[in-house]
Amino acid sequence: MNLHELVKTAGFREGFLLPVPQYEAWTRRRESGAFAPQTGWIEADAASAYPWANALLLLIWAYAPLAPEAVLSGYYPASHQSYLAMQALRGQLAEEGVRTERAAVPVKTILVDWGLGTRLDSDLIYLPGCGTRFVVQALMAALPAEQLTFTPKGAPFTACVHCNRCRRACPGGAIGPNGYDWRKCLRAYEEGPAMPEWVMEKLICLLGCEVCQNVCPLNHFMAPRPMTAAEEAAFDLEKLLSGDLKPALELIGKNMRKGGKLTAQAAVLAANQNRTDLLPLLKAQTAQSEGDLKETLLWAISHLQKEA
Ligand code: SF4
Ligand code: SF4
Repeated sequence: MNLHELVKTAGFREGFLLPVPQYEAWTRRRESGAFAPQTGWIEADAASAYPWANALLLLIWAYAPLAPEAVLSGYYPASHQSYLAMQALRGQLAEEGVRTERAAVPVKTILVDWGLGTRLDSDLIYLPGCGTRFVVQALMAALPAEQLTFTPKGAPFTACVHCNRCRRACPGGAIGPNGYDWRKCLRAYEEGPAMPEWVMEKLICLLGCEVCQNVCPLNHFMAPRPMTAAEEAAFDLEKLLSGDLKPALELIGKNMRKGGKLTAQAAVLAANQNRTDLLPLLKAQTAQSEGDLKETLLWAISHLQKEA
């Protein structure tokens, strides 16, 4: 088995093999509330969570950004593709008798600690060759001794040129002189259908906010790509609000249906694009919704009725 070759054939830009990581400082910071609640799924201690594993395989999936006018974050289609590639790789490793499991570890902190990436003022992680546009899939693995050649630890480095473009452009004011505050970042509110009003007012893109990545000069070596015809059709707001989510979920993964967040974000985007033509669909969705999703739909309707 040639692990490096398997990783490359699966479509990953890079595969970093590291010892089972330790990150006590990260866990202490999480306990103090330094990170968004989405980090709750990460294990506090990898060694006790995966006692059978002897390595962490970090799989780097590089992707081209979508053009700034796209209504979709390019991260999610890439994330889904990388997930499928990771599952295929797991299948091949299983055939070689290698046990793997998805690793719930703080991958970006680990990349920085190992000297492979560096944290920018925007709190994004920069990887040489990828900028900030990459997805990490992480596997804990029990590899045979002859495969345990770890990626050499790099020296810490900096890449941020402190140009303040991200700080000036951030719609939530999340990047300040004292660092990044997740509470003011739109991305922190994309996990469910409930969004604070200030987030709904500023949302211009489905499933994320790309502003700090788009303005960062460290990403400017990458040419953006237009949305594909399939993406255009799947993420058409009329289609999403009519309840036809299937083509979109095929591109971004079924778990993105969770809690109605895609419908909620489509509703908010429709409101911010002044799509009064979609009011009947929004009303129909509201009639069959409840809880947080219904509240978000009602916000979108009231926003559009003010415009009508
Ligand atoms: S936009 Fe400028 S300040 Fe912000 S992360 Fe990029 S290089 Fe650093
Ligand atoms: S993702 Fe958007 S809201 Fe969050 S820090 Fe970047 S620009 Fe600001």
